[in-house]
Amino acid sequence: MPKVMVIQTSQALQQFREKLKDASLSLGFVPTMGALHQGHVSLIEKSCQENDFTLVSIFVNPKQFNNSEDLQKYPRDLKSDIQLLNGLKNCVVFAPTEADLYPENDGFIPMELGDIGRVLEGAFRPGHFEGVVHVVHNLFRLVSADRAYFGQKDFQQLAIIRLLTNHFGFQTEIIACPTVREPNGLAMSSRNMRLGEQERKDALIIIHVLRKIASLKNQVSIKEALVQAQAFFSSGKLSLEYLAIVDPETLQELNEWKENQICCIAAHCGSVRLIDNLLF
Ligand code: AMP
Repeated sequence: MPKVMVIQTSQALQQFREKLKDASLSLGFVPTMGALHQGHVSLIEKSCQENDFTLVSIFVNPKQFNNSEDLQKYPRDLKSDIQLLNGLKNCVVFAPTEADLYPENDGFIPMELGDIGRVLEGAFRPGHFEGVVHVVHNLFRLVSADRAYFGQKDFQQLAIIRLLTNHFGFQTEIIACPTVREPNGLAMSSRNMRLGEQERKDALIIIHVLRKIASLKNQVSIKEALVQAQAFFSSGKLSLEYLAIVDPETLQELNEWKENQICCIAAHCGSVRLIDNLLF
């Protein structure tokens, strides 16, 4: 079984990148924060199919955490991540240090995110997307990939990645990948590892409420659908942060059903904050 190569410095990454360019080999890129699961693997496998080589970055980015406990408790297990990737052909891991990814005077100039950055996650996690933009900017500049793969589970992040790619003029094609779920519907997430047995069951309310709202499309008003959804939270098992039906392009709240909309949710299950969405 081929063992995955691990690159630990940006200098070594640049050398690897040059070699691929010299040999005219394409590179797909999958940025992650590690604690890899089948959701990540689906992105990586897609990249492996579409590119000669795939680079998976594993870096828990402190700049995108607005909650120090969340950062501290974020699962980290580089060894098992590498084990999961062993066997994938032409897959390389990039696991940089913070100092390497954020050198002093890294030349990053923050961008204005506009209305898309102010709603949903942007409203509830101040500074989060600014941190995402900074790390993805630095990674994109270093990696200079042909394609980069992102999950629709983080729908707003995907919209912001598209914005930053245009804004900074990166030549990387952004590929959106569908959300991978457990058979019971729970969206896979590294944070699920922190859920207890009962909490895993409670967390299913998230997908149930999303499916309920989708079933109410054109049956009742959006306002009424959101009122009916509140019943899912009356047991107190989940604490709702936001539930919104928004336009998939602008992410602004809708008052009337359209052909396509996305329902986005963030809720706390015990001490774990979970997000999910459904496009319908
Ligand atoms: P993270 O490690 O949570 O930063 O996620 C890295 C990438 O994997 C992001 O593009 C996520 O959207 C994507 N991802 C995370 N969970 C899933 C999932 N359940 N299905 C598909 N993609 C996912």
